[in-house]
Amino acid sequence: MVDAAQVVGPGVPAAPTSTTPARTSAAPADRPARPVRWTPRTVLVTASAAAEPHGRQVLQRLERAGVEDVRFLSGDRLPNLRDASYGDAKRTLALVTSAASTRKPVPIPPSADWSFPIAQGCPGHCQYCYLAGSLSGPPITRVYADLPRVLAGLDDVVGAGSVTTGTAARGHEGTTFEASCYTDPLALEHVTGSLSATISHFGTHDWAGPVQLRFTTKYDDVEDLLALPHGGRTRVRASVGVRDVERFEGGTARVPARLAALGRLARAGYPVGLTIAPIMPVDDWRAEYGALLASAAAELDGVPGLDLTVECITHRFTPKSKDVQLDWYPRTKLDLDESARSRKHGRFGAVKYVYDAATTRELRGWFEDALARELPAARVLYWT
Ligand code: SF4
Repeated sequence: MVDAAQVVGPGVPAAPTSTTPARTSAAPADRPARPVRWTPRTVLVTASAAAEPHGRQVLQRLERAGVEDVRFLSGDRLPNLRDASYGDAKRTLALVTSAASTRKPVPIPPSADWSFPIAQGCPGHCQYCYLAGSLSGPPITRVYADLPRVLAGLDDVVGAGSVTTGTAARGHEGTTFEASCYTDPLALEHVTGSLSATISHFGTHDWAGPVQLRFTTKYDDVEDLLALPHGGRTRVRASVGVRDVERFEGGTARVPARLAALGRLARAGYPVGLTIAPIMPVDDWRAEYGALLASAAAELDGVPGLDLTVECITHRFTPKSKDVQLDWYPRTKLDLDESARSRKHGRFGAVKYVYDAATTRELRGWFEDALARELPAARVLYWT
């Protein structure tokens, strides 16, 4: 998910329709009883996708998950879904093959050298989600059946890039590849297997130079990732926030469950991270964010050789994302008041609304001190 404006990645409060709720306890546990798993109601399969070996594996997973409404198309065009309701679209998975232009790795500062797609769209219902402004059309989730072709294209850019490759601060990460720019890949994992395949590919492929896969998630279903041959080449970040922000997130795992999942991954040898996003100056924000950082520290306490990073992303919106968010969540309490924000120009000149300089300075200063105090081993990658 990520121009950091985008990482990250529904009062439709956290409880949408086709997901299984996670436990709510903050207590660390080796195996959460019920991780959040999304199961689509309707699946559309293009002809080319049905012919791909990975596509067939996805179909087997969907069958095991009990999905009955699977519609095989005679060609590769998806039907016109313009009139699909928000709810119907969010329950629809389209199994497709990637266009050459979609597969091409794209620079994605400040997160990573390159982004690449294993899917587009997310079943979560986060009212602030950046996808509202970056993906067009109804919010279905497209899963790429030709994943091996997508992964094969990454070899072309190993050793190139300007965010980590060759830089003094982050060069040791190698060439970095962000997989969560347009989806939350863990949300889909139990019906796709795409994330496991990607992690294993990064861990075992003979790369021309050092590489790292990165993804960030608001989900907690990590059981199947623990024993993968990740080779230390995948950094998983938990996307986390405080209660007054979490109430805008529906369908996702609760924050304590995300942190517990991150602890399990760290103990399985994965480099890990926190994506604190979107940061909002909610009531009593110092105490709330302080408690969040303390919880993260408790979950990661005692992890041998802990490799931890932190990324901090303040809330922002664009005219387009605001329009879509208000269309999807007309009763949202999200702060989308342009008059209380500063106007900035993002990449390609796009307008975005961010907190004013004084608010940003206060937040940033506090986080710098609190992170040094609560998570002294963490490397802060960026603030935006
Ligand atoms: S988990 Fe939420 S913020 Fe992340 S991509 Fe999904 S809907 Fe967007």
